[in-house]
Amino acid sequence: EAKNSDRGSYKLFNAELSQIVSSRAQLLLDLKEAVEQKQLTVVYQPQFCVQKNIMTGVEVLVRWHHPKKGMIPPSDFIPLAEESGLICAITDFVMHQAIHELTTHELLYRDIKRVSFNVSAADFNHSESCERFIANLSSLPGDWSVIELELTESAALLNLEGIKNVLDVLRQRGVQVSLDDFGTGYSSLNTLRLLPIQEVKIDQSFVKDIIKNKQDAKLVRTILAMAQALHLRVVAEGVETHAQANYLMSAGCEEFQGYLYARPMSIEHLVTFIRNLKQQRAQP
Ligand code: C2E
Ligand code: MG
Ligand code: MG
Ligand code: MG
Repeated sequence: EAKNSDRGSYKLFNAELSQIVSSRAQLLLDLKEAVEQKQLTVVYQPQFCVQKNIMTGVEVLVRWHHPKKGMIPPSDFIPLAEESGLICAITDFVMHQAIHELTTHELLYRDIKRVSFNVSAADFNHSESCERFIANLSSLPGDWSVIELELTESAALLNLEGIKNVLDVLRQRGVQVSLDDFGTGYSSLNTLRLLPIQEVKIDQSFVKDIIKNKQDAKLVRTILAMAQALHLRVVAEGVETHAQANYLMSAGCEEFQGYLYARPMSIEHLVTFIRNLKQQRAQP
């Protein structure tokens, strides 16, 4: 009897597993189609220096509107894209699209001084990776220091040498480099030591409980002290409440990104958002 029920659960497991495999395979097929048929869009999330009352930059985030399943979050398809190599086509699309939208609306350089893109380890895996980034940025009407690439430590770990070679070339042309989700990987310090990095982003998991959790608060203070010693800019991610923002400010953090200030938004909303900011600033 035990054997029978074992076999039963084995069968169930098998059926579930093959369903997962086939639904992932289907999702990958859909994603390929999405890239070809322009179902992907980009949104922008502003970042702020609250003390100086200025918008310091925007992070570009990809969105996928699936024709049948609706909105699929990046966390559900970016890993799949990374494993399959499709991420390169997505990165190319995201960079082209965002630069096109921002320049069409004349926001770059004037109103937006920094545009951050998320990049993956797989974006650095090919011999022509560097040329690809250069081609993607060549439509910029001005200098490349407005561009920042956000890389995670886990990505850096996968291909440190390859990534370093590409980043060194892009750095010489002005591109900035940020270490995303800082503190959540295995070798944050080694990555900082070896790659040409100007900014770290404190991961939202540290910010979330910063008021209640003494340990998280101490870790954030330590990251801020380290960043100051190394002359790195720090952006706190996932700031949702005034209490979190006030704590971070008193600890010396200067830049913020989170729902408290602005959610990711379309280019049309960004234009309006920036216009409203300017009007507010113009008022006494
Ligand atoms: P990330 O780079 O750390 O981006 C920040 C994520 O936090 C975004 O999620 C953003 O919408 C979300 N967020 C911002 N403020 C808040 C807040 O106050 N509270 C909370 N709970 N969340 C907040 P999103 O857009 O779902 O992206 C998730 C991740 O997917 C990104 O994390 C990034 O790792 C990846 N990703 C997004 N777009 C791209 C892309 O174009 N290329 C690549 N390679 N990865 C991307
Ligand atoms: Mg990011
Ligand atoms: Mg992050
Ligand atoms: Mg992330």
